[in-house]
Amino acid sequence: MPCTLTPRTMHAVSTLEAGTVADAAVTPLDTVYLDGAFVSTQEARVSPRAHALSYGTGTFEGMRAIWNEDVQELLLLEPLAHYERMARSAAALGLALPHTPAELIEITIDLLRRNGARADTYVRPLLILGGDALQVRMDGISTRFSITLSPFPANYIATSGVRCLVSSWRRQRDDTLPIQAKVVGSYVGPALAKTEAVQAGFDEAIMLNAHGYVAEATTSNLFIRRGGAWITPAPSEDILEGITRREVIELVEEELGEHVMERSVNRTELYICDEALLCGTAVQVVPLLEVDRRSVGNGAAGERTLTLAAALLAISRRQDQRHPEWTVPVWNGK
Ligand code: PMP
Repeated sequence: MPCTLTPRTMHAVSTLEAGTVADAAVTPLDTVYLDGAFVSTQEARVSPRAHALSYGTGTFEGMRAIWNEDVQELLLLEPLAHYERMARSAAALGLALPHTPAELIEITIDLLRRNGARADTYVRPLLILGGDALQVRMDGISTRFSITLSPFPANYIATSGVRCLVSSWRRQRDDTLPIQAKVVGSYVGPALAKTEAVQAGFDEAIMLNAHGYVAEATTSNLFIRRGGAWITPAPSEDILEGITRREVIELVEEELGEHVMERSVNRTELYICDEALLCGTAVQVVPLLEVDRRSVGNGAAGERTLTLAAALLAISRRQDQRHPEWTVPVWNGK
């Protein structure tokens, strides 16, 4: 019998990025979008000879849909920004998405509705070199495009705060592969870093870049606050330019009346800052309590960080009327 891997198997791999090894306990929603059709997970198959399985050739996004119980609405967070970034990631790999970002939003809404999604949901669009090919090159190999859904795991990260290890694994340089594109294979480094951190008793890993400056955590960006100023590593530090990072920069101004500076961050600054946070689609905004067993500030969750986290959550659920452009309703009264 030929061996085929289903998207369910692929998902078990991809959800490692979402950080919960126990994700096997979270059953993905059954209907998936694959190459122009809505099919059940069992029908969606990829060959074990698919180029991406050997070489990690592909790109993906991670998006979140947030349930508002009060108004019985599911809100897709920043879908346009995610699909526009995916189009840029694909272009950086010399690939094309099979649909425009606007079409992809419509497909995602359709998929969420077909799955009856009425709870926090993680959305995983994935473009891979899916053709059978063993040559290490990227031209002339067919692509496959899928969107799969999973219930968002409640235990993804401790929202009260995280203890981090500065990893021995460095963030790759942008001249080794297009690091600002979410390249499938580039997540081996963060996966090793996260594993190292968790096995050493920490919650998360912070990765330095090849020059020894702070880059980011494994699937989130990092901000520190020193002497009244917020600082976050600049895009030139080999970070992924997070969509949540952009939101946090705006919210620091709007919510706190403070300003964010983009510049290099030294490792020592992690130890001597007054407040620090991680932000990303999966973690949202979470306080950093400790780095390398040293307390951040007084070791308690930063007050400003908690204000930012609450503001982002309220905006994401449309309980706060600001930034309606960040969310797209899925059910719309249906
Ligand atoms: N850095 C990396 C490496 C990531 O994978 C992610 C998650 N996409 C982030 C940062 C945060 O980005 P975003 O806010 O767009 O989710």
